[in-house]
Amino acid sequence: MTGGVSADVAVVGGGLVGTSVAYELTCAGASVALIDASHPGRASDAGAGIVSPETFQERDTQWFEFGLSAAAHLRSLVARLAEDGADPGPEAFAQCGSLVVALAEHEDPWFSEVLELVHARTSGIVEIPVGEARAMFPPLGPLWRALHSPTAARVDGRTLCASLRSAALQRGATLVSTEAVGVDRRADTVTAVRGVSDVVSCGAVVLAGGAWSAGAARWLDVELPVTPTKGQIVHVVLPGPEPADPGAGAPGPRSDDWPIVQPILNFYLVPWPGGRVVCGGTFEVEAGFDTRPTAGGLRDLLRECVAIAPGLAGATFSEVRVGLRPTSSDDRPLLGPLPGFTNVHVCTGHGANGLLLGPYSAALVAAGLAGTPATATPYGPARFSTP
Ligand SMILES: Cc1cc2nc3c(=O)[nH]c(=O)nc-3n(C[C@H](O)[C@H](O)[C@H](O)COP(=O)(O)OP(=O)(O)OC[C@H]3O[C@@H](n4cnc5c(N)ncnc54)[C@H](O)[C@@H]3O)c2cc1C
Repeated sequence: MTGGVSADVAVVGGGLVGTSVAYELTCAGASVALIDASHPGRASDAGAGIVSPETFQERDTQWFEFGLSAAAHLRSLVARLAEDGADPGPEAFAQCGSLVVALAEHEDPWFSEVLELVHARTSGIVEIPVGEARAMFPPLGPLWRALHSPTAARVDGRTLCASLRSAALQRGATLVSTEAVGVDRRADTVTAVRGVSDVVSCGAVVLAGGAWSAGAARWLDVELPVTPTKGQIVHVVLPGPEPADPGAGAPGPRSDDWPIVQPILNFYLVPWPGGRVVCGGTFEVEAGFDTRPTAGGLRDLLRECVAIAPGLAGATFSEVRVGLRPTSSDDRPLLGPLPGFTNVHVCTGHGANGLLLGPYSAALVAAGLAGTPATATPYGPARFSTP
């Protein structure tokens, strides 16, 4: 940081969530300083990008509704960004559908439970013959059963975040590339955020630091129940031309059009244009802030990737990404005013669903801050306050 910065709102954290908050606030006319340290392990750079609330496997209606609203918000956000001159492009967001699959007969009880749940909640998700499912994603191996959800989409967290940042900066936000290390406060009001070498004076602050959010809350002597869940994820690329469906003898679909594959008990596969397929992700709750790719992680990912889709065995290993999911103790986000303070808000704790949920949460938190009427969020941080 060079020199003093002053803003209506200082947003701590420039992943997808903080950047979305910054963008929404600038749209509402606020001046914003977006403070970001770009820590290694930023989840938004690693996330697989599955946008599929319709296939959520939890029996929590409020959560399901929140997910549906978030998916609708994401679609309109992409359109807004395009109108704002920061189009993330067709590859950053696409409705590609999803297959929920059982690989073997012994998975029947789990599959039937998911089938019953999704049918009770949504129309349009149907069980399809496994041959049809395999034709949709030609590298797949044998399947036992398959459900097709046509509305699922994929989002590229890096590209969407870059578009949001560019749109926010165009609208006057200031990017402060540093690590925030503390705050200045008068009683229950924060007056500034301190970076490594300078200070951002502010009228309000939003803590949106992903897995690092609990560290920021400690500046205020608050214990925020958010911890990192390490995820490793591999990218492989099929050499073109893409494989044909041997059964049909016809060319297979382009990978752009392949659906996401969500096995009931295994890692998922997310297809991208150009024959790229992402397989993930490990779920390492004990790893803390370790962001190393490990031999064991890679072994597990590649073994399952090729077991589910033998047609990927000849794909080129491209890269492994590691991200830290910001996981709250009840696996739900923390959104809105922090109890005990007049001007501190939080927007974090999105765990394994932040690419889907984060932009919507950000819009709710920004609306609350701007004083505009907003849908009340069911996930206020007050639920963790001791009476
Ligand atoms: C392997 C993997 C797969 C995933 N797949 C999906 C998926 O398919 N669908 C889905 O919806 N979600 C998915 N997620 C989850 C999603 O990626 C995250 O929930 C989301 O990206 C969290 O965004 P965030 O902005 O809160 O955190 P992050 O992206 O981690 O960003 C936090 C930012 O805050 C900055 N920061 C923190 N503290 C400070 C400070 N003191 N000063 C300055 N800067 C600070 C960091 O440097 C970082 O840049 C996945 C995650 C992983 C790891």
